[in-house]
Amino acid sequence: MGEPVTAAKPRSYYDCVKCPAFCCSIYERVQVTLRDIRRLAKHFGVTEQVATTRFTKVWGKERVLRKKADPMFGQTCQFLNLETRNCGIYHARPAVCREFPTTTRCAYWDLLKFEREQQDDPDTLPLVKITFHARRNGKNGKKS
Ligand code: SF4
Ligand code: SF4
Repeated sequence: MGEPVTAAKPRSYYDCVKCPAFCCSIYERVQVTLRDIRRLAKHFGVTEQVATTRFTKVWGKERVLRKKADPMFGQTCQFLNLETRNCGIYHARPAVCREFPTTTRCAYWDLLKFEREQQDDPDTLPLVKITFHARRNGKNGKKS
């Protein structure tokens, strides 16, 4: 038998490091699981109970990360570094943040690039608001 075949990671057509973090800001909720809370508790050296109270809140039937004021989008995830616009807890971020987006493209990154080309301004920031008519339940992902 030859070497085991390992699937190559598909190329991503977006750059989160250069993005102002639309996905951390425009969604109503970032879902957290018990495993996410355990990771947060370990990262901050607090109990799961403290992490749950301090970093999360109940939204509908699920638990989500708390948000904070953001001069750019109005509100954003409490863990976003407002200076760098990158995640302040990258290695302890919830699973949905690790999985997002589930495609090789990010619509928000495409929009950012599109508008910067259209406006001929490398600093233009298209402000985006997203709403959903119906709530979907269960699935992972930063949405509604
Ligand atoms: S996933 Fe998309 S919106 Fe989120 S930080 Fe990366 S490029 Fe920006
Ligand atoms: S935990 Fe990090 S990646 Fe997830 S929404 Fe907050 S700032 Fe963004």
